[in-house]
Amino acid sequence: MDRQQEFVLRTIEERDVRFVRLWFTDVVGALKSVALAPAEVEGVFSEGLGFDGSSIEGLSRVFESDMLLKPDPSSFQILPWRGEDEPTSRMFCDILTPDQEPAAADPRSVLRRQLDTAAEMGFTCYTHPEIEFYLLDSDEVDADGYPVPVDRAGYFDHVTGSVSQDFRRHVVSMLEAVGISVEFSHHEAGPGQNEIDLRYADALTTADNIMTFRTVIKEVAVMQGKYATFMPKPFAEHPGSGMHTHFGLFEGDTNAFFAPNAEFNLSTIARQFIAGVLTHAPEFTAVTNQFVNSYKRLWGGGEAPSHVSWGHNNRSALMRVPLYKPTKGGSARVEFRGIDSSANPYLAYAVVLGAGLKGIQEEYQLAEAITEDVWSLTTPERKALGIKPLPGTLHDAIRQMEDSELVAEILGEQVFENFLRNKQQEWDEYRINVSPFEINRYLGMI
Ligand code: GLU
Ligand code: MG
Ligand code: MG
Repeated sequence: MDRQQEFVLRTIEERDVRFVRLWFTDVVGALKSVALAPAEVEGVFSEGLGFDGSSIEGLSRVFESDMLLKPDPSSFQILPWRGEDEPTSRMFCDILTPDQEPAAADPRSVLRRQLDTAAEMGFTCYTHPEIEFYLLDSDEVDADGYPVPVDRAGYFDHVTGSVSQDFRRHVVSMLEAVGISVEFSHHEAGPGQNEIDLRYADALTTADNIMTFRTVIKEVAVMQGKYATFMPKPFAEHPGSGMHTHFGLFEGDTNAFFAPNAEFNLSTIARQFIAGVLTHAPEFTAVTNQFVNSYKRLWGGGEAPSHVSWGHNNRSALMRVPLYKPTKGGSARVEFRGIDSSANPYLAYAVVLGAGLKGIQEEYQLAEAITEDVWSLTTPERKALGIKPLPGTLHDAIRQMEDSELVAEILGEQVFENFLRNKQQEWDEYRINVSPFEINRYLGMI
């Protein structure tokens, strides 16, 4: 047994922990949890915990259903929202096959594989997510069928005694209690919309943190008699919820994206990384924007990117290089604005990082930065500037992903196929639906 495992066992005893939850994530990003009696933990550290992988979305087929959960002791945390009476803890797990090999379809191992590739190239990848979500009165809709936000406030609004402010304060202390530091939090542009930005961490820790974050947000909302949603676009007339993520590659302590005298302080490596992400973005959009509703965000305005471009401090760009802050010295990073708050963070980070690394390996050339507001250009103007659209619908995104060798390689054959099958099924269910839009528009007209 290693030291981290010993530490976990000791803490369980000292804190009189009653339940140990084992967490993992399915292919569409849903958190799965199984509770373990403390006496079982030692055995599970050495043997793993067996479960039926074929009952988990996208994990395994019926004829190879036996899988093992292997808890990662470094992720051990007491869950503060469960109270002090019967302390409950959790660990994230890797999924293994019965012969103790990493399961090809475990989203965590998909991201690990990209981080290994980055490490072979000499890089560690740091990420910093800005997570947006809506806080609603409940999960019920009003008489007209619309969700009801908790307030009518807007971007950066300070509302005295507001629900959102109280909520954010509570969430931030809860997150800190599970070891997740928050950089800042504020009211976003939509009514009831909030944003919380997590501090830089390596990409795998960030993805784990996002899974915990979503749980904390949901739990705190319930405690306050409210409901939180990460749905990409709950209101047609208000901005959607993005999960912009800043990426940085480091070689040891050196920021590999930084070059002191270059344009926007971007090194050649940074330029190749951006070029890789932009070149392959339409192929991996089904992963970063995985639901029918995700495309209502991308194409419904509200500062969400709809076209493939990059720019310096240009919010209409898919990739933005934030203003360089001289005080920070030597810092450079790129913000990818495509991902929405419903994405599976492991798979989303794997495809963005994998595309960026491909750009570095193949020395892709980066096009000119776009200074125009991409949204207000006409289609011919965009064409002239070489700006391509992102997929317009989930259907379009699935078709582009199906043809992508790179995405197949990053996700591995099994996740690639399971993911596409799941998404195709969603699209098939959606496309035979008759929506209120159609009733309103056509019933009295034709
Ligand atoms: N809510 C916008 C989106 O869906 C982003 C607004 C912002 O720039 O923070 O991407
Ligand atoms: Mg924001
Ligand atoms: Mg942002």
